[in-house]
Amino acid sequence: MKTLRITIRGIVQGVGFRPFIHRSVSELGLRGTIRNTSSGVTLELEGEEEALERFLKELPDRAPPLAVIEEVTAEQLPRKDFPDFRIVESERQAERNTLISPDIAVCPDCMRELLSPDDRRRGYPFINCTNCGPRFTIVEDVPYDRARTSMKCFPMCPDCEREYRDLRDRRYHAQPDCCPVCGPRLRFLDGEGREVPGDALELARQKLKAGEIVAVKGLGGFHLACRCDGGTVETLRRRKQRDEKPFAVMCRNTEVARRLCEISGDEERILNGARKPIVLLKKKKPGPDPLSENGFLGVMLPYTPLHVLLFGDGIDMLVMTSANLSDTPIVKDNEEALQALKGIADAFLLHDRRIQTRCDDSLCWVLEGKEYFARRSRGYVPQPVTVPSLQTQILACGAEQKASFCLGKGEHAFLSQHIGDLKNLETLEHYEAQIRHFERLFDIRPQALVCDLHPDYLSGRYAQERAEAEGIPLFRVQHHHAHMASCMADNRLSGPCVGLIWDGTGLGTDGSSWGAECLIGDYSGFRRFASIRPIPLIGGDRAVKEPYRVAFALLKESGCDTGGCRDGELLQRQLDAKLNCPLSSGMGRLFDGVAAILGIRETCSYEGQGAILLEAAADEDEEGILPCGTAPDFDWRPMIRALVEQKRSGVGTPVLAARFMNTVTDMAVRQAICACRDSGCRRVVLSGGSFQNQYIMRRLPQKLRRSGLEPYRHSRVSCNDEGIALGQLMIAEAILREK
Ligand code: ZN
Ligand code: ZN
Ligand code: FE
Repeated sequence: MKTLRITIRGIVQGVGFRPFIHRSVSELGLRGTIRNTSSGVTLELEGEEEALERFLKELPDRAPPLAVIEEVTAEQLPRKDFPDFRIVESERQAERNTLISPDIAVCPDCMRELLSPDDRRRGYPFINCTNCGPRFTIVEDVPYDRARTSMKCFPMCPDCEREYRDLRDRRYHAQPDCCPVCGPRLRFLDGEGREVPGDALELARQKLKAGEIVAVKGLGGFHLACRCDGGTVETLRRRKQRDEKPFAVMCRNTEVARRLCEISGDEERILNGARKPIVLLKKKKPGPDPLSENGFLGVMLPYTPLHVLLFGDGIDMLVMTSANLSDTPIVKDNEEALQALKGIADAFLLHDRRIQTRCDDSLCWVLEGKEYFARRSRGYVPQPVTVPSLQTQILACGAEQKASFCLGKGEHAFLSQHIGDLKNLETLEHYEAQIRHFERLFDIRPQALVCDLHPDYLSGRYAQERAEAEGIPLFRVQHHHAHMASCMADNRLSGPCVGLIWDGTGLGTDGSSWGAECLIGDYSGFRRFASIRPIPLIGGDRAVKEPYRVAFALLKESGCDTGGCRDGELLQRQLDAKLNCPLSSGMGRLFDGVAAILGIRETCSYEGQGAILLEAAADEDEEGILPCGTAPDFDWRPMIRALVEQKRSGVGTPVLAARFMNTVTDMAVRQAICACRDSGCRRVVLSGGSFQNQYIMRRLPQKLRRSGLEPYRHSRVSCNDEGIALGQLMIAEAILREK
């Protein structure tokens, strides 16, 4: 007989951990207690030594899929003679630390019941259990139980109630537990919003097979679903006014996805895991197709039982795109859907479980076995990012176009889901409402606020007003410094680092617009070590949508012939008069401009299009680089001249696109080496939206490593502006600590 106190640190609350432990210890005949603590759980366990050892050994492998175990320690205690095993509630109510689980894809056990001919939940589109189902999107308030979720209007039937109370049952304490007798139901409506009698699921399937567009209510909002053939996709593009931006597809299973894309072992694990993000996979046929004009396709697998049931019987893959209009938040309520999607959807597949919280699909690709996010949302939020213990409760307000916020308390940084562009009134309202919701859920009362330096960001105005109203301090943090701090926190770094921050634009400390920067610093401060030669943006913001303007400026500044340029004379006059020609050192603009010079793309219909198509055009095997000046600032003029010369002498676009990206990568390495020599550190963090480029991210870290440096990239939060709030939070904490 032995007694142990086992401390488990990590994300072990709100992920079905206590019921899991309860079951494991009963199997092993152990007795004792479990309680939540501020950094995890503490167990006191008593039993046979062999059983205790087995418990500790099997813990990491058997833990629920969303649990993140960071550390397990065990110490021996004097014998306590526990009579049984029980869950002990937190002693101090004031220190309540509730974590809420993200929404989890339907688990293998539920899937089996769903498809088994004689289970009482067979074919029931809302089946769930302790290990899976809706969480974040249905929670209204804490503590988390059914009465505080949108399941409250569905009282459990006696059968469900029995499972819920049975410790040995998979549905023990599963708050959204339900069945066809007591749970939500589907409805099918035509394009006019009229109820159509019959089997809603079958009716929806018929519509989809006939090539019509069906609005489907999901976990965190509506999708528009349709077949993947050119004609149907064309109709969807026309109605949604989305000309070229790629659509994500949902495939019935991995085998179906494999018909379209190459899938590695790591990609399959993440694609098919419990979180089920959209994974950007390499297409087998790299050319443009109706779904995606570049070399990648966003693929996800069915993650709700409703999705699972939608497939089969002639449906193998469907376009599944967020139902929202012109950058407003994703549609979530039935009435809202019927109004907003009228004229877009030919039919509606609805249900009567309310979506409390909007949450878009997460979007990532897989780099060295881990997620690399473009959007961290459903399946991940609101699981906190663990950080070194914070002294102050802080609200970080994020940026603007890819807005997010981050609330910090103790060892947890709660980063919000994808919010969108704050310039829309609806998005701003969503942002403010989510801040209040998160504060209530996680019991956080900010004592300090932090936002971007930019005076016009609406997130900054929100912060300013709130700081004044509540009389709490507000810190303004430089954009690139926040990116750097975000990547440091993502990798649990604290000391000084070099930061290669490749971004669109962010306001600099000198009042000018910064772009691709090389910084040296830590959480409490930084200096700007190097940058790239600024590019005049002829026509200001118009140059973002019309990169041929950037191409003209690049050519002109490099002393190249601009004879054949579109609107050449007009642009020259504007440039001469310095009429609306702000300078930008954004990496995105350089990519766009080069894409235009190479004839890949002269105008853009969505953000980053030029850069994305340039990447898609590149010859993966080309190793050549172009001359460029770096001392340590990146002067792109020699590179542009070489590019133009080589193009004229007949070198193909794929080779030139690759040589351009190789050159930029090489420049980054040289900049990092200079900065490391200057600062004496070897750690290089990579952050900023331009690092969403797979070609560069699959090469740059290796090259840095080969130069004896230690590269770090994001894996827990996005590299783009969505991840910035985490960095703001860490910087504010450091400033407050020093006071
Ligand atoms: Zn389940
Ligand atoms: Zn029931
Ligand atoms: Fe940024």
